[in-house]
Amino acid sequence: MTDGDWTLPPLRIGHGYDLHRLEAPAPAGKGRPFILGGVRFDHPVGPVGHSDGDAVYHAVVDALLGALGLPDIGQAFPDTDPAWDGQDSAHFMAAARRKVAEAGYALVNLDVTVVCERPKLSPHKAEMIGNIARLLGVEPSRVNLKGKTHEKVDAVGEGRAVEVHVVALLAGRGA
Ligand code: MG
Repeated sequence: MTDGDWTLPPLRIGHGYDLHRLEAPAPAGKGRPFILGGVRFDHPVGPVGHSDGDAVYHAVVDALLGALGLPDIGQAFPDTDPAWDGQDSAHFMAAARRKVAEAGYALVNLDVTVVCERPKLSPHKAEMIGNIARLLGVEPSRVNLKGKTHEKVDAVGEGRAVEVHVVALLAGRGA
């Protein structure tokens, strides 16, 4: 890749963001079981979403698609399509992995920040990292995951939503 006199390394950065509202399960609310990073947490509320509502996987996918300059997960897998209702979000991770490979890139690293008041993520952090790494075909050392609270303020801090931010770096194969 060149830009004038500069030879630029084939690196691409992407940012992913997702937020899901948390509600009690039916019939009281529309919440699904609380799944984050492929781990099912025992929690009284869960994400409202068209697929299984895994906000970690969704934000990872958006970071990868963003790095490739592609439309986001909502355009790739529209929530108007009944095929994605209740879908295991591992499916979207596999699709994003294929797109990265097809474009000739490899994942350098992912940095994931999950913001939620509860449940506590730390006991399941290694499992979440392992799930992400396995689905993307990389070593777990290329995936970092941090849990933060929202200091009890706003919807996330009041336990009514979970929010995820992801930054992904890709390198062109052979770089
Ligand atoms: Mg989502």
